[in-house]
Amino acid sequence: MKKLLAFTAFAAAAAGAYAQDFPAGKTVTLVVPFSAGGPTDRVARDLAEALQKTLGTTIVVDNTAGAGSSIGTAKVARAAPDGYTLLLNHIGMSTMPALYRKLPFNVENDFEYLGMVNEVPMTLIGKPGLPANNYKELTAWIAANKGKINLGNAGLGAASHLCGLLFQSALKVEMTPVPYKGTAPAIADLLGGQIDLLCDQTTNTTSQIEAKKVKAYAVTTTKRLTTPALKDLPTLAESGLKDFEVTIWHGVYAPKGTPAPVLKKLNEAIKAAMKDPGFIKRQEGLGAVITTDKRTEPAEHKKFVSAEIAKWGPIIKAAGVYAD
Ligand code: ASP
Repeated sequence: MKKLLAFTAFAAAAAGAYAQDFPAGKTVTLVVPFSAGGPTDRVARDLAEALQKTLGTTIVVDNTAGAGSSIGTAKVARAAPDGYTLLLNHIGMSTMPALYRKLPFNVENDFEYLGMVNEVPMTLIGKPGLPANNYKELTAWIAANKGKINLGNAGLGAASHLCGLLFQSALKVEMTPVPYKGTAPAIADLLGGQIDLLCDQTTNTTSQIEAKKVKAYAVTTTKRLTTPALKDLPTLAESGLKDFEVTIWHGVYAPKGTPAPVLKKLNEAIKAAMKDPGFIKRQEGLGAVITTDKRTEPAEHKKFVSAEIAKWGPIIKAAGVYAD
């Protein structure tokens, strides 16, 4: 018994010392649950660059994409709770619990919350050559093409899925959903004309809109945006879809049980990233709003996600969409 106690005390002291040394020059993996080159990936890569400066170690982005972010999220829930495997995910953290009947993790219990990073508006865009040139013409085109329209998304639980769901329900039309592992491949297919419409974050669409490679119809925020390439786009709310609002947010998570000193270092590095001029410039240039308020505090982050789960759950349930 004495020996066991001595061993336990030794193990706890060793874990404590190890946690103090974190990251000790070891590579940290930041899991992105969507494909490379898409909006979540873009946030993660910019964040990784900023975090590297504070943590003094390499941060590798790992795209474990699929099933509306549930596959990558499950990977992090199962990872060793040592701070070396983290997750960057978006609003999907709050929509997945209502969308998936069998989720291999519990969003509120299986993660340590490390702080929110930003908020990103969405845009409704169309394939090049789509005959509608503004939102009014788009609604006429949708009405004339009922049953023939393909709407891309990044899987159940994705931001694009949620936005598309709300858009269809507001217009009382049904479009054919075309799922991808992220909106990077979805936008590639939109450019190729394989899908007609897509709702996607400005972090992915701004450059395409600026280059006039896609048709842009509206933004999903309640106020118009100030980003030069997006400032002339109307909001869906002002265009007739009263109260329509979808804003995407991103946060960072570690597996449950990650030692407190490691969590503290990671949270401090996230807060430093929110003040990093390079990070701010790149993100703001793509329409994102950096989190500088108390939501970078883990407890506030968790409170916010719980409120989002409570907000979106009934809306999703009413839409009757789910995956087994
Ligand atoms: N924008 C995607 C979504 O619809 C995800 C991504 O590829 O980052 O959630």
